[in-house]
Amino acid sequence: MAQPLTLPPGERFHLKDFDPDFTGPYHKKKEAREKTWANLERLNALQEMLYAQGKHALLIVLQAMDAGGKDGTIKHVMGAFNPQGVQVTPFKVPTEEELAHDFLWRVHKAVPRRGMIGIFNRSHYEDVLVVRVRSLVPKAVWRKRYTQINNFERLLADNGVTIVKFFLYISKEEQAERLRERQETPEKQWKFNPGDLDDRVLWDDYMDAFEDALSKCNTRHAPWYVIPANRKWYRNLVVSQVLIDTLEKLDLRYPDPPPDIESFVIPE
Ligand code: AMP
Ligand code: MG
Repeated sequence: MAQPLTLPPGERFHLKDFDPDFTGPYHKKKEAREKTWANLERLNALQEMLYAQGKHALLIVLQAMDAGGKDGTIKHVMGAFNPQGVQVTPFKVPTEEELAHDFLWRVHKAVPRRGMIGIFNRSHYEDVLVVRVRSLVPKAVWRKRYTQINNFERLLADNGVTIVKFFLYISKEEQAERLRERQETPEKQWKFNPGDLDDRVLWDDYMDAFEDALSKCNTRHAPWYVIPANRKWYRNLVVSQVLIDTLEKLDLRYPDPPPDIESFVIPE
């Protein structure tokens, strides 16, 4: 059965209608791998034009539960890009200075300039996710943020920033497995954060908060994609495909060469 990646703006997302195990027509990693490799090559070529043209910026927002695959997606998909044209920004617990400003202050500063690709490892959506679930500010404060986020993203879109937002959707069982693996594998233990277990207990509250964020902030200029992410290889394939589709909608092309380029003589 097919599964949509996104919904028309204004429609409500019900996560129970999305299967994190979904792998489309593919059954095994091997089958999807060649398509993914081809996608990564195409992405590299598209980025080169984005950079050369310097007209558009691309902002990629990654959100997921802990162990949802944000780091892996950056490594395996965004690894296709030339590092010169990319800037990754992780959003952690806000510093004292950040908290002394409005919640978009630190975010706006990290928005990519034209020609660049910005990757947000977590984002302003934390301010309607963890902040809401953990009641870090009163409801009267966070409930206004959906509109504030939409206005902010509109501002960016009107100023040359193409926005694409991914929710890497894993199941609660898959998270348990990944956390256990982090706990048991020496090379992964550095990622094991006991605090993640507290968030896991609040899983259902997070899913409610995600459904609201996806539903209220899914716009034509900044769409949300729900990526079935239990299988890392399918996640990588789909994310790479959405990025290609997004970049191909822009009028990317190399800038015009200097006039009379053929008349120049290269000195011996
Ligand atoms: P990690 O991405 O695993 O390094 O963890 C970063 C942590 O910072 C996560 O637990 C996030 O929920 C938390 N975080 C990010 N943004 C905010 C925010 N605006 N308010 C509170 N916590 C945040
Ligand atoms: Mg956490």
